[in-house]
Amino acid sequence: MKNIDKENKTEIIHEHIHWYPGHIAKAERKLKEQVNLVDVVIEVLDARIPLSSCYENIKSLLGDKPRLIILNKSDLVDTNELKNWIEILEKKFGYPVLVSDAKSSKDLNKIISKAVELAEPKIQALIKKGLLRRPARVMVVGMPNVGKSSIINKLTKSSKTKTGAKAGVTRQQQWVKVNPKLDLLDTPGIIPMKQEDQIKAKKLAFVNSVSENAYENESVAIELLKILEKKYEKKIKEYYSLEDEKITLENIATKRNWIKKGAEPDIERTAIFILKDFREGKMGKFILDERE
Ligand code: GDP
Repeated sequence: MKNIDKENKTEIIHEHIHWYPGHIAKAERKLKEQVNLVDVVIEVLDARIPLSSCYENIKSLLGDKPRLIILNKSDLVDTNELKNWIEILEKKFGYPVLVSDAKSSKDLNKIISKAVELAEPKIQALIKKGLLRRPARVMVVGMPNVGKSSIINKLTKSSKTKTGAKAGVTRQQQWVKVNPKLDLLDTPGIIPMKQEDQIKAKKLAFVNSVSENAYENESVAIELLKILEKKYEKKIKEYYSLEDEKITLENIATKRNWIKKGAEPDIERTAIFILKDFREGKMGKFILDERE
C-alpha cells in the first residue's frame, strides 16, 4: 500500500481506509455482537490523543450502553495536563473518566468499583423483573494498540477463574470472574480504524494504532514534528540539540549524524527514529490533541 499515491502522500491513509469497507463492516458487526453481551463497556483511549483515539460514531457501535472511559498510557503524559483533560472529557462524553498505566496497579480498584457502579441500574432492572442478582458483565473496547489487552490482563491477574460460556451466547465467549460482583469478557472489542479526518488519522499513526503498511514514515514524522513544534518546541529542540536550526527531518538527521552515502541526510531512517522516540516517550510527555 505504501507506494499507491506517490504524488500526494497525505492521501495514503485516507485511501487505505476506503479500500477495506468489507473488513470494517465485519469488525463492526463482531463488536456489536460482543457489546450485546455486556452491561457496561470500558472504552480505552490513548492519553496522548484522547480525542483522536475515540471513534466519532462510537454511539452507533455501543448504543446507550454505559461507558467507563479509561485514559491509558498515562505514564507517557504530563499528570497536570491530564487532570484538565479528565474534566473536559467527562463533560464532553457524559461518562466517568479514569486514568490507567499498564505498569501500575493502583488504578485497578477504582476501575472495578466504577464498572460495578455503572452496571447497577441494569442489575436493579433485572431484579425488578423477578430475576436473581448476578455479577455485572463488562468488556473492554478500543482502537488497536491503545492497551486493551494490558487492561484485561491487569483486571484478570487477581483472579484467573474462567466462568465459561454464558447461556444464550452463540459464539463461545470466555468470561473471567474479576471479583464476585464483576465478570469480564476476556476478548477485547476492536474498534476498526475508520478515521476520515486526516490529522486524526496521522495522530493514530503516531501512537502505532494504524498498520505500518498504511502510511509513509516520512510524511507522518513531518506531521508529528509540526504538532510538537507548535506545542512543545523547547523540549523538542532540547532533545535533538537544535539551537537556531528549525525543527526539520534534515536538521535532526544532520545533528544525529544519520547520513547516507554521498553525505545526504538519511530522511527515512530519521523519520523512523523520530516516531520511535515519540512512541517510547523519550522526547517528553506530550498530549497532542487540542481542547475543543
Ligand atoms: P491492544 O492492542 O489495545 O490490546 O494493546 P496492548 O495491550 O497489546 O498494548 C499495546 C502496546 O502498548 C504494548 O507494547 C504494551 O506494552 C503497550 N502499553 C499498554 N499499556 C501501556 C501503558 O499504560 N503505558 C505504556 N508506556 N505502554 C503501554
